Amino acid sequence: MYAFHDLSRLSLGFFPTPLVFLSNLTEHLGGPQIYMKRDDCTGLATGGNKTRKLEYLVADALRQQCDTLITGGGLQSNHVRQTAAAAARVGLKCILILNESPYHNDKLYQENGNILLDQLFGAELQIISQDANMAEQMTNTYKHLKENECHPYLIPLGGSNAIGATGYVLAVEEIYQQCSANKIKPTHLICASGSGGTQAGLMLGVHLQNWPLKIYGFSVGIKNPCEKTRVDNVLASLCGLFDVNPEPLRNSSLVDENYFGSGYGQTTPESIAAIKLVAQKEGILLDPVYTGKAMAGLIDYIQQGRFNSNDTVIFIHTGGTAALSAYADKLN
Ligand SMILES: *Cc1c(COP(=O)(O)O)cnc(C)c1O
Repeated sequence: MYAFHDLSRLSLGFFPTPLVFLSNLTEHLGGPQIYMKRDDCTGLATGGNKTRKLEYLVADALRQQCDTLITGGGLQSNHVRQTAAAAARVGLKCILILNESPYHNDKLYQENGNILLDQLFGAELQIISQDANMAEQMTNTYKHLKENECHPYLIPLGGSNAIGATGYVLAVEEIYQQCSANKIKPTHLICASGSGGTQAGLMLGVHLQNWPLKIYGFSVGIKNPCEKTRVDNVLASLCGLFDVNPEPLRNSSLVDENYFGSGYGQTTPESIAAIKLVAQKEGILLDPVYTGKAMAGLIDYIQQGRFNSNDTVIFIHTGGTAALSAYADKLN
């Protein structure tokens, strides 16, 4: 096990990403001041939150002199698409294990959006059925390569282990500097939570920065385990890496499981409405799987009066817009 100091960071994206004030949306919703951290603009393969994680993960793979990146996710995984681009950038082979979705068997979903881009980046795709065991399949592929004298590097679902989540610990430092320079005093950070690394990283980052703000993570509905457990698990290993006691941090943020609708990857009427609202008020694209749902949560919180007018929220735009075209039938 290494410590944080042993990690290096490989430049894969454009940082700092912009922190922008959403004046029209703020006025329209009549609640807190709303800023957006544009991590959809990291620049790697259209951008997204996995770039920050991959800067640490791919650096680790190179340090270990690996020759192949293996990772997995759904057919429309943003993490997988950014991993494929990172592998291309540094000249590694890339094997992607993709789960079919129980909800989508249309051509748009199976051929467009992220999966189209994965192929442009030259990755090898292994498509497995919806009920096949992803973790097992990833380990099998890993073992198989090892036995054949290759040097694979296994990146977990969403890049959410301690090394990957380190990207979001450091993101807090970046946000803090932007806030200080522009005299912004945020009271809340808002994000979509899937594999949990983003929220766990934000939690530790805010703790290390000694920043008195609340973190609200909106679950996108990946089950078994539930989101809170996912975040806790990543937080525990991340704290190990930074030599921080995770116990006082465990309940320092909120995980809300009420806005993902019937499940991961399925749109809700509220998320579609949120995508259209932000597109039409701000000219900014959200996505149907993650940020649309988190924004629907934020909007509902505002309507419930859970913020007051002195509050300032920063919505972390974690990306995902490459999936929009795969959901064209749901958006029209
Ligand atoms: C992966 C992803 C998330 C969730 O981040 P986790 O670290 O997996 O919780 C949020 N938004 C988008 C667009 C993503 O691709």
